[in-house]
Order: sequence, then C-alpha cells, then structure tokens
Amino acid sequence: MFALIDATKEQAAGKYVYCAAECKNCKRDGVSKVSFLKYLGQSDGRTMYEIPLAPFTLVVSMYCEACGETSKYSRSEIQVIGTEQAPPSDFVEQF
Ligand SMILES: [Zn+2]
Repeated sequence: MFALIDATKEQAAGKYVYCAAECKNCKRDGVSKVSFLKYLGQSDGRTMYEIPLAPFTLVVSMYCEACGETSKYSRSEIQVIGTEQAPPSDFVEQF
C-alpha cells in the first residue's frame, strides 16, 4: 500500500530523496529542524513520490535527534525533500 505525496520542484531538487518532517518540539523553540523518516532513493526528477504507508495510516511517530523528542505527524505534515546528502551508514528509517 502506498500514499502519494507531492513535492514542489524546489523541495524535490537534490540527488537523494527522503520522506521528512519538521520537528514540532524544535519549532516551538523557534528552531527549524527537519528530520528524515525514510530514504526513498535517488532522484529521477519526479515531484510525486509513493510513500510506503497504508492510506489509512493517519499518524507516524518521528524521533528527533536534535531534541530527543518523539512526536506524532499526520500525513499532511510529511514532506518529500531532496538533498545532496546521501543516507549515512547509520541512518535509521522510522517506518
Ligand atoms: Zn526536535
């Protein structure tokens, strides 16, 4: 089962594409910390990505290593982000 998430061209620009969310707890402190939930693969120029979440999955828990908090995120809060940063060898996928 997959959910489709649409990114803007700017968001999806970058070689390595991730599913990500902005930490709510950090945001309350005025800090923008985007954490990666899942590595989706190398970019092929698409802006629409299939996220391996069942359509009825309403929330995903995400641990933020900046503040150590785990918060819940709805599907609408999950973004697709491309960066030039390859997944580190110790990258932990969160779903
Ligand atoms: Zn945080």
